[in-house]
Amino acid sequence: MNLSSPLFTLKGKSIKELEDFFDSLGEPRYRGMQAFRRINKHLARSLDEFTEFSLVLRRKLQELSVFPSIQISHLSEEEGDYGKTKKALFSLPSNRAGERQVEAVWIPSHRRRTVCISSQAGCSLNCLFCATGTLPFRGGLQIWEIVDQAYEMTRSFGENFSNIVFMGMGEPFHNYENVIRAAHILHHPEGLNIGARHITISTAGVIPAMESFIKSKQPFELAVSLNHTDTEKRSEIMDVNRKNSLERLLKMSRKFTKELGRKITFEYVMIPEVNIGQENVKKLIQIAHSIPCRVNLIPLNTNLRGWSRPSPETVYDFQTQLLDAGVTVFNRGSPGLRIGGACGMLALQKG
Ligand code: SAH
Repeated sequence: MNLSSPLFTLKGKSIKELEDFFDSLGEPRYRGMQAFRRINKHLARSLDEFTEFSLVLRRKLQELSVFPSIQISHLSEEEGDYGKTKKALFSLPSNRAGERQVEAVWIPSHRRRTVCISSQAGCSLNCLFCATGTLPFRGGLQIWEIVDQAYEMTRSFGENFSNIVFMGMGEPFHNYENVIRAAHILHHPEGLNIGARHITISTAGVIPAMESFIKSKQPFELAVSLNHTDTEKRSEIMDVNRKNSLERLLKMSRKFTKELGRKITFEYVMIPEVNIGQENVKKLIQIAHSIPCRVNLIPLNTNLRGWSRPSPETVYDFQTQLLDAGVTVFNRGSPGLRIGGACGMLALQKG
């Protein structure tokens, strides 16, 4: 191996990449599969746990590769009906942009334990209702940094998760390659084997990446943060709409359902006096009738720009109107609200 080349990072790699690496060391290729299982199934924290490798081989790996991990530097907890919702702050290795921290949330519910993870440090979108947009943007995470949030929570809490959502900090489709590869590692039968329908990637509506997702027939669930039913007004609260208009976004969403044969999820952050009037209900029903979907309502969780949370009655009323029109609609509620762990609140404040 060329000693001037940067050291090989063992984590976040596919089986093939690991096999090629071991091959280049003159080791049998099956070591790649063994390493993949140690890392992604047994969630090893260090090379010491690679017990099927000889001490000589482990020492060789220590010299020629790196085995990084991220640690929880602060944990906030909130008691809920089905156990504690936990928000973890992770410090990541600094990059050229500076120090990086991200948050992830562990959300137990009736039948699931969901992990919500971050895909970028900060976010370059500027959605007016979202706290993450107020942080300095420090770029997309590495593949291993994405999966390690889920692994570290699993190891620390001593419990497995059933579902994973890319709804933490950042825009997953602005870090498309790494997010897709991370999702495949989480889904891999030799890893945690999380079902593809239990992995949801959420986008504010980056249309070219949605198109790649559809073209490459990704098996994962797709959620689109709709958040408004009028394109001009959507642009006012979500910059991303200026280049990715609502009309094109809906067209691409329809294409997803047609070509991949499954429903799309529309998320709708409810902001009083901004997007929950009668005209919005009417348009949302029209959209839902023309695209096979489910709608997730999220009551606003921040008080940026003087906006406030809708009352439970308002949410109920909005939901009922959609239900009465035959729309599949859920109120996602706000688990983690008190610890700053609910949707849109991730901004590194200690809760
Ligand atoms: N960038 C991606 C994923 C992160 S946001 C996206 O936009 O989809 C995850 C969800 O939280 C999105 O549906 C977003 O609209 C919602 N959200 C953002 N800020 C919020 C807030 N203040 N209150 C409630 N939901 C919010």
